[in-house]
Amino acid sequence: MGEVRVRFAPSPTGLLHVGNARVALVNWLFAKAALGTFVLRLDDTDAERSEARFAAAIERDLTWLGLACDTRVRQSERMDDYRAQLERLKESGRAYACFETAEELEFKRRKSLRAGRPPIYDRAALGLGAAERDKLIAEGRRPHWRFKLDEGEIAWTDLVRGPQRFEAKNLSDPVVVRGDGAFLYMLPSVVDDVALKISHVIRGEDHVVNTAVQIRMFQALGADIPAFAHLPLLMDAKGENLSKRLGSLGLESLKDSGIEPMAVNSLLARLGTADAIGPVLRLADLVAGFELGRFGRASPRFDPNELFRLNAQLLHAMPFAEAAPRLKALGLTSADERFWHAIRSNLERFSDAKVWHDACFGDVPPPSDPAREFLRAAAGALPPEPWDDGTWGAWSRSVGEATGLKGAQLFRPLRLALTGREHGPEMKVLLPLIGRARAEKRLDVP
Ligand code: GLU
Repeated sequence: MGEVRVRFAPSPTGLLHVGNARVALVNWLFAKAALGTFVLRLDDTDAERSEARFAAAIERDLTWLGLACDTRVRQSERMDDYRAQLERLKESGRAYACFETAEELEFKRRKSLRAGRPPIYDRAALGLGAAERDKLIAEGRRPHWRFKLDEGEIAWTDLVRGPQRFEAKNLSDPVVVRGDGAFLYMLPSVVDDVALKISHVIRGEDHVVNTAVQIRMFQALGADIPAFAHLPLLMDAKGENLSKRLGSLGLESLKDSGIEPMAVNSLLARLGTADAIGPVLRLADLVAGFELGRFGRASPRFDPNELFRLNAQLLHAMPFAEAAPRLKALGLTSADERFWHAIRSNLERFSDAKVWHDACFGDVPPPSDPAREFLRAAAGALPPEPWDDGTWGAWSRSVGEATGLKGAQLFRPLRLALTGREHGPEMKVLLPLIGRARAEKRLDVP
């Protein structure tokens, strides 16, 4: 087999969400597992709806996920090739001019549906003679162009869905160029896949019917037909199509809510496969052993809670070397390795580290209802430094013996006064970080 070359082809008409990210990730993993090439193609032929800010956001999101592109193309810069290929199709009679108005087409569509027939374009325009065509053009009518589908069966073995079969006669000849000259999605995608030597087209199953049409286009252009894989679309908890509800499942908003990119990757690389879902620290570990064939045909449910769970698990396992620059970037100057290991298993978001940094090294609000006597007695019993993991146990035991308190009555007020919080990392690891001077001050509630 030749080089594996895949493309992720979003339209820059909106922000990426987890459904798009899954298609991007699967393409990327497939390419990397085969030492192939991952192309980012921006489908921006729709000049009205495409926006530079969305194109920039897509690149930003892919970078955030760690999915570096080997090549990028913008369809808006490839118009000459589309025009040239369209000319070839016109010359070979595979693209033909049509003059129906939108109203006429809608009328035909309704008529077919009323008669119980599928609304397939009737190819009336193919019956126009050259003279009629010229007359319509002379009247100022601007044609739109359709691609003529060759008769017969269109079949392929989908790498996710298995054998697929369509009858060309059950499909409409697609419009490839609108009356105003704008190219629609179908043909440019094929022209690009040919020019970029795409070996595998991996996309959502909403494109299955397009694939049947596009296979005919590859044939008409005399090009090799790539392999196809169509992933089932993600569903929400209610079983509805996820792509309809973007909002909080947009990548930017996940990022803003403290989700780690590897939490997204860990979930999306396995969702819809029989493989167990768990935290994976590095993309390279997802590349190893990646197989398209592991994806099933059923639509998987996307559960945001699973993402939050993976996020916490990733943080709990994050090595200090990886955390260190980020702790520094948050301005947590006292966050050393000991601190990180003490607090990481209490994080849901990385930024929570600040809460514990404050609890260890910053100002802690005094308890609202302090047992002053008790806390002062406890302060008096603080042993001299150096402190270690055993200090808390020995100290709290001696405070318990001196006051007769035990269990929650003993531990809760100490924790609250020392950290400003009811819950958190084990006191035995926090106390040495807090240190004697701060502990004494915090126990001496005014
Ligand atoms: N721009 C198309 C989409 O986002 C690309 C489909 C394809 O992968 O060919 O659905």
